[in-house]
Amino acid sequence: MTETMVRLDEVEKLYGAVRALWPTSLEIQKGEFVTLLGPSGSGKTTILNLISGSIGATCGAIWIGNRDVTKLPPNRRELGMVFQNYALMPHMTVFENIAFPLRVRKRSEADIRKRVDEVLEVVSLAGYGERKPKELSGGQQQRIAIARCLVYDPDLILMDEPLGALDKKLRDQLQLEIKRIHKTLGVTLLYVTHDQSEALVLSDRICLMNGGRIEQLGTPDDLYFRPRTIFAADFLGESNIIDASLEADGGSAKISTAGGLVVEGVPTDTKAASAKIMIRPESFTVDTGDGFARNGVQGVVEDTTLTGGVIDIRLRLKDGSLISVRQLTRRDFRSIQHGQQLSVSVKPSDVVILQ
Ligand code: ADP
Ligand code: MG
Repeated sequence: MTETMVRLDEVEKLYGAVRALWPTSLEIQKGEFVTLLGPSGSGKTTILNLISGSIGATCGAIWIGNRDVTKLPPNRRELGMVFQNYALMPHMTVFENIAFPLRVRKRSEADIRKRVDEVLEVVSLAGYGERKPKELSGGQQQRIAIARCLVYDPDLILMDEPLGALDKKLRDQLQLEIKRIHKTLGVTLLYVTHDQSEALVLSDRICLMNGGRIEQLGTPDDLYFRPRTIFAADFLGESNIIDASLEADGGSAKISTAGGLVVEGVPTDTKAASAKIMIRPESFTVDTGDGFARNGVQGVVEDTTLTGGVIDIRLRLKDGSLISVRQLTRRDFRSIQHGQQLSVSVKPSDVVILQ
């Protein structure tokens, strides 16, 4: 049985004539990790702020658990928030920073001590209570901000680009930490990022935003392997997006392109005669035998780039267009030369027909 933690019901946000969010509906289940992903200005922070109550909705209703919170002030919504800038109070110790939400709630001193120690443990900073924030690294400060939000056990935590100010190595480390905390505590997490790999690593579901609307909502697998639109295919991962002709054949189609790519048996129920298709570079396989595979294309090698474990090959097709092919490096790929003929094949199920 799933239980809804957050529900947006046709929620819209206007700033004068600027529509930050089109009427949007969204449900997040209890215990889920959902990421709002999208380019800058796409409405991610707006959704978070509407849920936290720091801005009011122009239209629509917002539910947290079984409460309609649309008109409730932020402090009565009982949720935790973590921002990009840690927002710790610099004159207070780490202990007092974390204890603050409990003092506001008038908990006993013994209670506070016990609980702060517990959450310091959760964020792997046991023993750091007496330091001041400035005596900690950026990553440690962000963990304190997370601890401060965990300390009063909210059912729902909102995080707005919490790792945006950290360098890559720390970011990777804290990503794993946040994932572990989510798993251990079973809390519901709504997380904002513009970083696709972060979203893929962390999320149960990704809500891809574009221009103040939800472009696609689904599991990381859905978004990566089954993007519905050019925007989604382009935003996550690398993709070859190609114009194709389609011949429908009951539940599947034969697709062909001006560059000579032909694939039979692509699963689809579309009846359209043409569409854009998407193929990930790593979905191609370089044919090493001399026969030309049935589902694939032949081209001339434009260039190859070896980056450690993978090799990127760009292939120029007969219509002059280029496709990108990515393979795990193998010694025999070292002999692939600029100007040589190469054929690549693709599984019908790896061809995605876009809307
Ligand atoms: P994101 O977090 O995805 O980068 P935001 O949700 O912050 O995007 O913003 C969505 C849109 O709303 C943007 O076009 C932004 O310029 C606009 N916007 C956000 N806040 C305000 C505001 N206070 N006044 C006017 N426009 C705003
Ligand atoms: Mg934002």
